[in-house]
Amino acid sequence: MTPASARMDNPSLITVPVPLGERAYDILVGRGLIDTAGARIAALGARAAAIVTDEHVGPLYAAALTASLEAQGLRVSMITLPPGEATKSYASLERVCDAVLAARIERGDLVVALGGGVIGDLAGFAAAVVRRGVRFVQVPTTLLSQVDSSVGGKTGINSRYGKNLVGAFHQPSLVIADTALLDTLPIRERRAGYAEVVKYGLIDDERFFAWCEANWQGVFAGGPERDEAVAQSCRAKAAVVVRDEHETGDRALLNLGHTFGHALEKLTAYDSRRLVHGEGVAIGLSQAFRFSAFLGLCPPADAERVEVHLNAVGLPTRLSQVPGGCGTVDALLDAMAQDKKVKGGALTFILARGIGRSFIAPGIEADQVRTFLTGEISA
Ligand code: NAD
Ligand code: MG
Repeated sequence: MTPASARMDNPSLITVPVPLGERAYDILVGRGLIDTAGARIAALGARAAAIVTDEHVGPLYAAALTASLEAQGLRVSMITLPPGEATKSYASLERVCDAVLAARIERGDLVVALGGGVIGDLAGFAAAVVRRGVRFVQVPTTLLSQVDSSVGGKTGINSRYGKNLVGAFHQPSLVIADTALLDTLPIRERRAGYAEVVKYGLIDDERFFAWCEANWQGVFAGGPERDEAVAQSCRAKAAVVVRDEHETGDRALLNLGHTFGHALEKLTAYDSRRLVHGEGVAIGLSQAFRFSAFLGLCPPADAERVEVHLNAVGLPTRLSQVPGGCGTVDALLDAMAQDKKVKGGALTFILARGIGRSFIAPGIEADQVRTFLTGEISA
């Protein structure tokens, strides 16, 4: 399907190309795309599609997707898994691989991930390994998965040794981000995904951050601003992925806010009742800017501006806002040292010289982090 004919179907369609050579694909963003997903997926030339979804998303959207695929003559099967991070497991991987094989999905056919990042990571990994690789399509249904996890080809599951430790790079053949699907997403999940949207502005696009400050209400309400925020985030992520597909260099910038965020997730035992990933990232973004200001790298007014915006949308920004507390400075430092490779007592952080001016900072002394955190923990 050409972009022009696709646009006739849906005037609000935005296409974001991911030019990765023979692994190139498009990200389609717009309201109501699920109704025409079948035609777009059929255009990839498959005869069968195995939908992978979860028990929250399946009842809401699987029927529409199935009908749209069947209308194109595709043979459709479906596997529905329990919602939640625990589903990114070896046991679920086995279930998905077996279901895909039982559905007689061949090399030319497709696995379709219909869900948030959990389903996308799991189904993508299953697609990477079944028959040594079948194609897959992402139909992300959370804001986080539309702006982050569905783009870039990182797939995987968790192991007892940590999150995302078993996986593969496997790019999707197409990403269909229907922004209307986010209407049913709980507000807390919307906010969590929004932290990753803000992150793209903070990394290298001050204008996009200013746009977020002016337009966030429309993003939450589901106006055209939501489509624009998703598309702009995908453009930003795609640009980084195209420069550094396998994370050997500046793809690490996407980890802005994540050193602090991951440590907080760990210290709250990955208990989503206390902290979800995006909330950890929101605190982490604010901490990365406050730490940058503490080191004299960034104007304090920029750190303040980051915090004011995150608070305006209802996201936390301080360590003291972690429900149940985040533990001691030593526990935090330990958790951060485990997340990032420590070289001779020094850590690598993503810091900022200002909004939109982030950089990779190796060689940050643990003592500097300790002094900063000692001040923060009571702030
Ligand atoms: P998720 O997939 O667990 O979804 C969050 C919750 O929302 C779930 O309960 C889900 O059932 C529900 N849900 C999903 N869509 C819905 C909808 N439209 N309406 C109502 N409810 C809906 O979480 P997530 O935040 O989307 O993804 C988190 C995962 O993504 C983590 O495992 C993380 O490691 C991974 N991730 C991967 C990458 C990557 O590059 N591959 C990047 C970032 C995060
Ligand atoms: Mg993240």
